[in-house]
Amino acid sequence: MFKILLATKNKGKIKEIKEIFSDMDVELVELPENDDDEVEENGTSYFENALKKAKYFALKYNLTALADDSGLEIRALNGVPGIFSSRFLGKDTSYDKKNEEILHILDGVEDRRARFYCVAVLYDPKSNKYFSSEGECDGEILKEPHKKEGFGYDPIFRPNGYDKSFSELGVEIKNKISHRS
Ligand code: IMP
Repeated sequence: MFKILLATKNKGKIKEIKEIFSDMDVELVELPENDDDEVEENGTSYFENALKKAKYFALKYNLTALADDSGLEIRALNGVPGIFSSRFLGKDTSYDKKNEEILHILDGVEDRRARFYCVAVLYDPKSNKYFSSEGECDGEILKEPHKKEGFGYDPIFRPNGYDKSFSELGVEIKNKISHRS
């Protein structure tokens, strides 16, 4: 079976990507637990960062690798946190805190429009060729966190056409409409 290495340690992404591929004839391989390599995300775009991550791990393990670089873009904040979404307030700050801070910054702001954006890159180490694809999901930032499951900014994001947050919608519905799918 065709193998794809998931070039990420983000458990939320891994769960969603596995679900997205669940009816496809591919074997998804995770990075070894003890692989602590961090690819510095110093690109100026989602694409550059995704390519960097996919290429690094594809060449390291000699396997076709899939990387995703994504982020939340808030219209009233000119697209912030964007490509800095995971580093917003520091990489180790909890998402409860990051979400709280975003709600605080947007307190009293009428325009709550936002979108999730994702660039995925699949890199083949044998040919040194890659395929890339991008996706987005428009919605708005809620007034308070709505939580059930999900990761990252899911509790405060409501996709257009739904009356629940990404967290409350759950992976099955999220994967039908999300930037990542
Ligand atoms: P990176 O792609 O590793 O730079 O991290 C992307 C960051 O964007 C994640 O750590 C989350 O903070 C945020 N993010 C991307 N996609 C999602 C999503 O589907 N739900 C919630 N947060 C997300």
